[in-house]
Amino acid sequence: MRLILLGPPGAGKGTQAKRLQESRGLVQLSTGDMLRAAVASGSPLGQQAKRVMEAGELMPDEIIIDMIAERVDQQDCRNGFVLDGFPRTTRQAAALDEMLKRKNASLDAVIELAVDEAALIERISGRFSCAKCGAGYHEKFQRPKKDGVCDVCGSTEFVRRKDDNATTVAARLEAYRNQTAPILPYYEERGLLRRVDGMADVDEVTRQIEDVLASL
Ligand code: AMP
Repeated sequence: MRLILLGPPGAGKGTQAKRLQESRGLVQLSTGDMLRAAVASGSPLGQQAKRVMEAGELMPDEIIIDMIAERVDQQDCRNGFVLDGFPRTTRQAAALDEMLKRKNASLDAVIELAVDEAALIERISGRFSCAKCGAGYHEKFQRPKKDGVCDVCGSTEFVRRKDDNATTVAARLEAYRNQTAPILPYYEERGLLRRVDGMADVDEVTRQIEDVLASL
């Protein structure tokens, strides 16, 4: 199965993609995670990504398209994947189509996590994750069971994304509105778009996604 999760920053794409990876063995392909890994490595690509991400802007299409093209060719993606954070522009969406066509493959669904923009700021500004295993938490909505200790791996070190601050979030939302939201009609016209309520609690969103997948 090949899926896209679409929605603005903070809609819950990463959380739901991780759940799909666990429940269905779909590989989570997060361009944001790939770029953060490049930043951590200090490579020239990472240095560029650091500037762009801190400004809340988008990386150039060609770079992202090459990155994904290389990744979907890898063995582990054979049984399916869930794209999280890609495509983000109409050009990326068209390139993905080409990529899949060459492989004689197609998308099964594009799931939009519909959210209220005002709530996103609160969601994004409270989130943090385990520095060791990456499990995601939120100060208000999803605290670890024991304060300061990761539920999954027991680590006591947590990190926050550098781009989860008010100024950058405003720019990221604008990039979503101007560059990413226009790809929704592209998928709607092809009958691929399914909408779920991204404002519901995390388990309910997962349930709605499972319903969509069961209906395919
Ligand atoms: P994310 O983790 O998906 O919120 O992505 C974090 C940041 O990485 C974004 O704000 C962009 O600067 C960059 N980025 C991630 N995915 C893409 C993409 N598909 N196209 C362009 N830039 C991206």
